Amino acid sequence: MLYEEYIDYLQNIIRRSSIDKNSSLVRFYQKLLIRSISCRLKVVNKNLVGNSYMSTSKSAISFDDIITLVFNLRNLSVNYSSSKFYFCKRYGSSFFFQTPFFYVSCVQCLWNYSVLPIVEKDSDKFSYGFRPFRVMQDLFMEIKNSFLKKKLFLWIVDLKINFSVNLCNSDWLIKNFPIEKKVLRSWLKLNTFSFQNDLSYPEDGNIFFSLVNFSLNGLVRLCEIFLNESFFTFSFNIFRFFDRILIFTTDTSESFLLTRNCLNFLQSRNLSVKQENLFVSFASEGFHFLNWRFYYTSCFFIGIPSLNLIKAQKSSLNLVIKNSNNVNISWIIKNINLQIDSWIYSCSFLDFYWDLSNELDVFLYKLLWGWVKRRHPRRSNTWIYSKYWNYLFGKWRFFVKDIISGKILLIKSHLYYKTRVFRVPNSIDVFDFNNKSKVNDIWFKKIRKNFRGICSLLYNNQKGLCSICNRLIFSTSLNDFRILRKKKQISSANTFISNLILIHTYCEF
Ligand SMILES: [Zn+2]
Repeated sequence: MLYEEYIDYLQNIIRRSSIDKNSSLVRFYQKLLIRSISCRLKVVNKNLVGNSYMSTSKSAISFDDIITLVFNLRNLSVNYSSSKFYFCKRYGSSFFFQTPFFYVSCVQCLWNYSVLPIVEKDSDKFSYGFRPFRVMQDLFMEIKNSFLKKKLFLWIVDLKINFSVNLCNSDWLIKNFPIEKKVLRSWLKLNTFSFQNDLSYPEDGNIFFSLVNFSLNGLVRLCEIFLNESFFTFSFNIFRFFDRILIFTTDTSESFLLTRNCLNFLQSRNLSVKQENLFVSFASEGFHFLNWRFYYTSCFFIGIPSLNLIKAQKSSLNLVIKNSNNVNISWIIKNINLQIDSWIYSCSFLDFYWDLSNELDVFLYKLLWGWVKRRHPRRSNTWIYSKYWNYLFGKWRFFVKDIISGKILLIKSHLYYKTRVFRVPNSIDVFDFNNKSKVNDIWFKKIRKNFRGICSLLYNNQKGLCSICNRLIFSTSLNDFRILRKKKQISSANTFISNLILIHTYCEF
């Protein structure tokens, strides 16, 4: 739709004026973006669709309410309070939970679109964590590559900053962050930041992540300047993921100097690191970072998922089956498949993935076997086996026939064949108009393998473009695209697929 083009255009101008250091022009275009109906529509749509509790109760918000919200987003300083929800789960226990007011997250998202081009312009080389078009997988690849290229790294320093405490009294941020000071101060004071860590699409809606990235930008450049001015000649790499900083160095005294340098930098931005959140380790002994464990073997450098991550996956599979009393069986299959999808998304690029996926498949089948045995206590093993298992594509697979729709549902496998990993190069600014087609092209190649079945076929056929607005479909989340049947059926090529098109959810009108 046209409104996306307009937002891109304004963001590009904000970026350019920010490079020219013309702050009054930046402020002018920021205001234009925030007041534009296009951006507001996008924000409200994104928050409605992206918010799992909102999208499930979509019918609770009428179309009129949505339009009123879009026009009322102008009022930027209201009394923020978090509202309590009574969340009634369909299966199992119901509970209270607290969420920042929907209005606030829309306003924060709106501001974020005007701030992102400025934050991205100054971002450090290897910084990750909720930046648009940079995902966890890229970070993993960069860490591995840096070790494969330079095997000299000996010391590893890992810093963790507690932002939720540190940011509250950050004078530096209030002085420098490019939004209205009054608004930012009230957010920091009340700490009204909401999280929505869906890593499956370019994260661009949450201003808290921009705050964090903004306050750490410049760290790598400072260390490089320090290196050029000092007498030392050593190589180092600094990686950032959200609140974590990882430093690789080649020598003891150098790692000490760099760490001190980093701490000084953090202090200048009103941030601090607690003593217990600073780890130093020896590279040959291996180290942990996020949910990964890295270590050397005789000739390779390897990254595998940590034990906690595997345990978490097993227990979440277990939980789905445990909560399955008096539940439609296709619900269980769908939930297990969702768990498997998210596991594949976050782990399929790790080393030895094949072995691990087999282990998890065996674990899951044991769980399912125990469950169907309890379901049919008087039946023989052979009867159960022939009812629930079928030989398909060279493998025995668990399946269920949905009574209502008559469809056959299969349990997916954790197995996933590694393909080439595409990533947006570090040197590219994604808000630059000149890079737009390049970024879209890489992103299409990167996410097309995450689509399954008919969606995958249509996505590849259309080269990732929506048939109505001709813009790229950026996300594989089911909320973000739809499959439609063409109104005029093509008579000559009367196949099922040729009458279907893939479009954005918001283009469906
Ligand atoms: Zn579209």
